[in-house]
Amino acid sequence: MEKTLSPLKGTLWLRSDFPAIRKAAEIIRAGGLVAFPTETVYGLGASASDPAAVARIFSAKGRPSDNPLIVHVSDREQVYRVASSVPERAHFLMERFWPGPLSLVLPRSSAVPDLVSAGLPTVAVRMPSHPVALELIRTAGVPIAAPSANRSGRPSPTSARCVLEDLAGRIDAVLDGGTCRIGVESTVLDLTGPRAVILRPGGITREALTSALGEPVFQASWKGVSIPPSPGMKYRHYAPRAPLILVTGPPSRRRRLLHILANFYERRGLKVCLLADFLNQQGDDDVENISRHLFRSLRRCDALKAGVILAEGIASRGLGVAVMNRLGKAAFRVIRV
Ligand code: AMP
Ligand code: MG
Repeated sequence: MEKTLSPLKGTLWLRSDFPAIRKAAEIIRAGGLVAFPTETVYGLGASASDPAAVARIFSAKGRPSDNPLIVHVSDREQVYRVASSVPERAHFLMERFWPGPLSLVLPRSSAVPDLVSAGLPTVAVRMPSHPVALELIRTAGVPIAAPSANRSGRPSPTSARCVLEDLAGRIDAVLDGGTCRIGVESTVLDLTGPRAVILRPGGITREALTSALGEPVFQASWKGVSIPPSPGMKYRHYAPRAPLILVTGPPSRRRRLLHILANFYERRGLKVCLLADFLNQQGDDDVENISRHLFRSLRRCDALKAGVILAEGIASRGLGVAVMNRLGKAAFRVIRV
């Protein structure tokens, strides 16, 4: 059941079979921390009703305590435990998109400790579609609070190995479910006001939400307001160790500049890592593939000891919005040509 690759520094590396999931669920029920696969990225889970366990998530990740966690559920009944009310729109979206990469921000019930929501009167809830995640929540019998299973500020993990790179010795176990299908986090949608507002673009596109709801869905922006609509917005995220330069604009122009920059830095003796799809002559974006490999590519640049990372922007539509959001947050500089 357990692999013995070192250095795990005491963290159990569990295969995701039933005995392992049972063991992971016991750890969660006893107040421990377990990283687990979801269809988006790996989550770092603790019992959402245990404040001491939730506090451990923040210290293992080095996460600022004002950045709230998403509560993961395996059935609708658990939604009523964590939310004090569930608007009609939420019912509809759960029916349409759950299980899946959509987190709904709802009014919080008193069953959710303050720490989970960083003191906000709301709670973000999602039902993941990954069978291991669902089975873990079901077996634990409690909603599981889980942010991405990376050290704060680092690219999110999309494999058990990536989790261990960041958190070996800091968490009790990781369930290995292979690589994540989507590769970027869930869409966070605020349903507490009169309008549906995306606080973070993710695995479910704005286009899909708009067409399902039959009403405009807004994208929150932090420009011009003093308090960010979602605490996570104000932090630098997803960053590899080397500075990342993101080049956006029409394909032929952005590629010309990427070549110029690559030559420039190479002549100065820097190791250049290029995140671009030059084999694709048309410049069409294979956005699902790009999304699936994005965070692993950023981590690979670290492993290769990049001096600078040059990334090619893609079209900001559909899932491309989430990809560009992550690249933008990882970037040291964005150049538009
Ligand atoms: P992570 O778990 O690392 O994917 O981060 C969770 C994201 O969801 C962060 O950007 C949070 O700011 C956001 N989030 C979680 N709960 C809430 C909430 N109650 N209100 C607004 N944003 C939230
Ligand atoms: Mg995260």
